[in-house]
Amino acid sequence: MSVPKTGISRRDFIRIVGGVAAVLSFPSVLFQGCRALERARKRTSLIWLQGQSCSGCSISLLNAGYPDIITLLVADISLDFHQTLSWGTGEVILEVIKKRLEDRKRDFILVVEGSIPTASEQYCTLGETNGLAKGIRQWVVELGAAANAVVAAGTCAAYGGIPAARWKGEGAGPTGATSVAKILPKRKVVCVPGCPPHPDWMIGTLAHCILKGAPKLDEYNRPKLYFGKTVHDRCEWLKDYKKEKFALRWGDKGCLYKLGCLGMDSNCDIPVRKWLRGANSCTGCGSGCIGCTEPVFPDMGKRGIYEHRQA
Ligand code: SF4
Ligand code: SF4
Repeated sequence: MSVPKTGISRRDFIRIVGGVAAVLSFPSVLFQGCRALERARKRTSLIWLQGQSCSGCSISLLNAGYPDIITLLVADISLDFHQTLSWGTGEVILEVIKKRLEDRKRDFILVVEGSIPTASEQYCTLGETNGLAKGIRQWVVELGAAANAVVAAGTCAAYGGIPAARWKGEGAGPTGATSVAKILPKRKVVCVPGCPPHPDWMIGTLAHCILKGAPKLDEYNRPKLYFGKTVHDRCEWLKDYKKEKFALRWGDKGCLYKLGCLGMDSNCDIPVRKWLRGANSCTGCGSGCIGCTEPVFPDMGKRGIYEHRQA
């Protein structure tokens, strides 16, 4: 594969970090984003671990439209380790992360996708130590202590997500799945939730961490740039909601509240950012918001999906 000559354009960069409004909160570095990232990649690398994940967060990242993800990974960010995207295998690729642990002078950002099992190290392993499979929890503890920044990619890493859902509605799941923050209680973990997270959220957050440090976060440690307002605040159907024009069957026009939309207490900018290069949003396509960016997702007992339930 040939290495692209150019990195992120200024226009792409502004769009990813949140649009024109974000320019005000993402100071001068925004206007030199390309060059700054070019310089930063020489000293900052990315280690991307996958715990209990379906790989959907990585697939979503590969759908990045602005800029093309290959351009970003090759020309602007040094993605040195990824369990499914790295070209090397076995001991050869494991050497990359072992070196990060040994070489403390080299900066790196740890990204974790998927939740972390705590009931047994053997539920999710990566490589071996002294002939024994090494649990992903151990890797997160070791790399998390050495990294410049720790980013949880997706709701499973951020809050436990689907692997941590209550077992048949009765209690904890069998793997003891938990969030990265619970494994690293002394570190500030930047959470980019979503099932999956939008690629712009991931790229914008990583760019911010590389160039300016952690972005401003909300009470659930999510970047305010992307999660500062509710879905309802910016929904395509807000006018219909105010006029009490509700969809009562799937496919009807109108606000989806009566079909169980959770947009009022879920935060993200998808109604304005939209998925797949602006094709559509969760609410715009008529399916409603299932609250995938919230810490309680997908706890059926508390909020429900397609059905409003009492806490
Ligand atoms: S569809 Fe959902 S987010 Fe949109 S206005 Fe209705 S309740 Fe709010
Ligand atoms: S609109 Fe709702 S379901 Fe869609 S990404 Fe945002 S929080 Fe998740």
